[in-house]
Amino acid sequence: MLLIRLAEILKKAVFPSKCIVCGSFFHVFYEKDSVHPINYTDKKYEMENITFERVMSPFLCASCLVDYLPVESPICSLCGVVFKSREGEDHLCQKCIEHPKHFGKARAIFLYCKAVMEVIHSFKYKGKLQVAGSLELLLFSVLIRHWSLTDFDLVVPVPLHIKRFRARGFNQAYILVKNLNKLAEKFMVKPGSIEIGRDVLQRTKWTMPQTGLGREERTKNIKGAFTVKDLFKVKGKRILLVDDVYTTGATVDECAKVLIDGGAKSVDVLTLARAI
Ligand SMILES: [Zn+2]
Ligand SMILES: [Zn+2]
Repeated sequence: MLLIRLAEILKKAVFPSKCIVCGSFFHVFYEKDSVHPINYTDKKYEMENITFERVMSPFLCASCLVDYLPVESPICSLCGVVFKSREGEDHLCQKCIEHPKHFGKARAIFLYCKAVMEVIHSFKYKGKLQVAGSLELLLFSVLIRHWSLTDFDLVVPVPLHIKRFRARGFNQAYILVKNLNKLAEKFMVKPGSIEIGRDVLQRTKWTMPQTGLGREERTKNIKGAFTVKDLFKVKGKRILLVDDVYTTGATVDECAKVLIDGGAKSVDVLTLARAI
């Protein structure tokens, strides 16, 4: 036992982890196998302990771990945009008053700052799927902070076009929610029963990447990109739409429009990050 422990210490000293944000080498602060919440088997583990610092600690150095901003009130009660003024209650932002959305409310975990961007890029573009477990957990904790699991009948990940899906090999939005029911069972001591509608929506139109486009161009670019594959599956359903980043909201609003037109009762939106 002592020998194994010594070997572990030696291994950590010789092979430190590489920070996925800044690339520097560091020693994992939390013991991956004992303290990291992903590996907790205790069903009574409290959700409040699921923080960015904790769940990202195997992947980020100490300085990058604190270099993120959580989304906190006051925010727009509809689209979730964070107000510059840090005082007052949540209320509707000007854009939502002028252009109401097709979804009910959108919430995100953190602002899209450099550390968060690098984390998402390493997962999405560099295929570092090991960070997905941590992100799933964070997403789940934010989901149950803003909603109850019984608020939804169906979770719909924003789909990729088949060409992009084949090039990437996975849909990041689906990866983020595929274990939702398992997490519900693990942390809430009851089995979740939300259907994950992996193929409910389809991205049938090939579009330019939204990056670099303005608000209006994004809306125009994404228009008509999605179709509901199975209308029966969305009819009368309360849907939670999930994506990695909310930038202008053009993509999720177009998805929500198509789902509502297809007969969904309501659509809410949950993303990892929210553009500043
Ligand atoms: Zn770092
Ligand atoms: Zn708003």
